[in-house]
Amino acid sequence: MSGATIEALELKSQMDDPLRACVHCGLCLEVCPTYKLTGEEGNSPRGRLHLWRSIDEKRLPEDDDTDFYTSECVGCLACESVCPANVPYAHLLEKERLRQYERGRSKTDWKVRLAGRAVKQPSLFNLALTPARLLRRSNLLPHPMLFPGKPPVMESSAAYAKRLMAQKQPDGPTVALLTGCLMEALFREINFATIRVLIENNVRVLIPDSQGCCGAFHEHTGMPGTDKLFENNRTAFRGINVDRVVTNSAGCGLALSKALQNKPKVQDIFGFLGELGPKQRPRQEGTQKVYVDLPCHLVHGQKVEGIPPNVLNATGYDWELAPCAKDCCGSGGVYNIQKPENAREILKRKSDFLNHLPSGVQPILATANHVCMMQWHTARAFIKSPFQVKHIIQLLDPAL
Ligand code: SF4
Ligand code: SF4
Repeated sequence: MSGATIEALELKSQMDDPLRACVHCGLCLEVCPTYKLTGEEGNSPRGRLHLWRSIDEKRLPEDDDTDFYTSECVGCLACESVCPANVPYAHLLEKERLRQYERGRSKTDWKVRLAGRAVKQPSLFNLALTPARLLRRSNLLPHPMLFPGKPPVMESSAAYAKRLMAQKQPDGPTVALLTGCLMEALFREINFATIRVLIENNVRVLIPDSQGCCGAFHEHTGMPGTDKLFENNRTAFRGINVDRVVTNSAGCGLALSKALQNKPKVQDIFGFLGELGPKQRPRQEGTQKVYVDLPCHLVHGQKVEGIPPNVLNATGYDWELAPCAKDCCGSGGVYNIQKPENAREILKRKSDFLNHLPSGVQPILATANHVCMMQWHTARAFIKSPFQVKHIIQLLDPAL
């Protein structure tokens, strides 16, 4: 057998075994937020892959060190976007975290574990967070992550969509909307804005009652239960006849697309609106300017280039991409709860541009994921002048 054939076979066997597919090129180091924070190889994608491989080959024991470096990863997936060997990093990370959890080695915070159990029961979760919706509605915000907003307290997104559909009677394409667990329970005004924008654009909106948590929470933390949640959503979304399933949260969209596997196709709301050509909002005169940040799970997870420019133009605002828009903000699902110091430092570096804007500019930081919005809201601690945090769908909302 020739040397070239042996090399080709070795390469094939590496590719058949994702844990051994890394070619050690180091291209992922410069995009990794935890490597940039610490400069430690163990805190880089390449280093973590090496650790997991060493454990797998029994050359290293599972110990506090290896647990630590696995837990330090934000899960931003920026490493996947630059990897020439197509290492399926997200899949390996999820597998490793699940393994840690099952062996009792996970250091997941008890509040996070409790939340993981609660989101499996969406109606109870919704009920439990009614006081929090009330507090947001009254502008009494005791938690630094709760950005201001006026969520409806009692009417559900499903009931609202039915009511608005009956009033407006759109007759264009039909979509099913994933309302999400945290989004519906706490940030419901974003779901309502999404429904208004879709219906205004002549889209028929269905909200399957039996839908549940997308499973992203469990994937991030390693908590078991993702398979069941995926199966539940397959039953909920495959039982209806729609042109698309749309999501307004990048992280949930990624998890749902894994669950449904294109049956039917899952698309981020902005990709869908971009293809449709959204209705134009009036031009916003004044000094407000929108800085668009791109959620990691949209660009690195769903592999979407960004928010279509026709959608951003349709907001009527002056806009530009935030500097380092494709870099992680530190949110990482529940990373900002589990690793608050790291999350804060990552955001501090990324948001510093807001401290250096021309005087008179009133910035709106707009993104496409409620969890990133919560993280950006905490930047008030180190940004000198006021700024607003919005979901991009809110800038297209006819109710504004
Ligand atoms: S997912 Fe993000 S934080 Fe984790 S190793 Fe990859 S680039 Fe680094
Ligand atoms: S970019 Fe991919 S192949 Fe290169 S070191 Fe990182 S994980 Fe390995």
